[in-house]
Amino acid sequence: MKLNGKIAVVTGASKGIGAGIAKALAAQGATVIVNYASSKADADAVVTHITTHGGSAIAVQADMSQGTDVARLFNTVREHYGTLDVLVNNAGVAVFQMIDDLTEEAFHTQFNLNVLGYLLAVREAVKLMGPGASIINISSILSTDPYLASSVYSATKGAVDTLSFALARELGPRGIRVNSILPGHTNTPATAGHFAGELGEKILAGTPLGRFGEPEDIAPLAVFLASGDSHWVTGESIRASGGVRGVGY
Ligand code: NAP
Repeated sequence: MKLNGKIAVVTGASKGIGAGIAKALAAQGATVIVNYASSKADADAVVTHITTHGGSAIAVQADMSQGTDVARLFNTVREHYGTLDVLVNNAGVAVFQMIDDLTEEAFHTQFNLNVLGYLLAVREAVKLMGPGASIINISSILSTDPYLASSVYSATKGAVDTLSFALARELGPRGIRVNSILPGHTNTPATAGHFAGELGEKILAGTPLGRFGEPEDIAPLAVFLASGDSHWVTGESIRASGGVRGVGY
């Protein structure tokens, strides 16, 4: 049990990659705050999964793009536990539009959650963190290898990698590590049907390990970055993608 006694917040943990990470952290002994936006039943199911496997978790609703909600989430953590060891910034949204169809609304929806939301969460989290704490920001391989119609989304993930590096420098003197994980194409509710057809064939052909990812493929890296095993790792952007690179899309 690598995370015994640790308190961890996972944003957007009611489904997909966040749910996989929440379960994996709990399986290593962490108490997990399972954040969700609107899917209470899904978040409750993740909590039930964790508790029936002997772990500890609570579900907390908060829209991570809203400062007041973010503050409320971390106030709940303070009231329940008084401290925080791990933050996984995972709640994110993608709107795929060619540049001709770009809307300001889609820009703000993505940047407000994927970038501002991550920064607001870190601002609140570090009030509860001390030396040894770990912040993990979920980015995407699209940050360095964007595909068609993903200019805004990919830009948010490029920002995630950069802010992770910047915060690693800023928070290093306080003993807090910050890293980003870049998942590849991962089967989740968000991507259902997305990897079908020609795009999916290209992705698979360019993936050395020959399949799409699952949340369970990403979660062990989050456990590593949350645990003391990675105590000398900070400011890094690490791909978890089956090796896919330069597909061209
Ligand atoms: P998903 O299946 O759509 O799950 C998204 C999660 O985020 C849900 O739990 C959802 O909660 C939550 N959420 C959405 N908006 C929120 C908000 N405003 N405040 C708080 N929570 C919110 O997504 P996913 O595919 O697992 O993606 C998770 C992360 O991985 C994202 O940052 C995404 O960019 C990144 N990523 C995904 C892939 C991929 O192929 N799937 C690849 C690279 C990176 P509700 O259910 O309550 O709405």
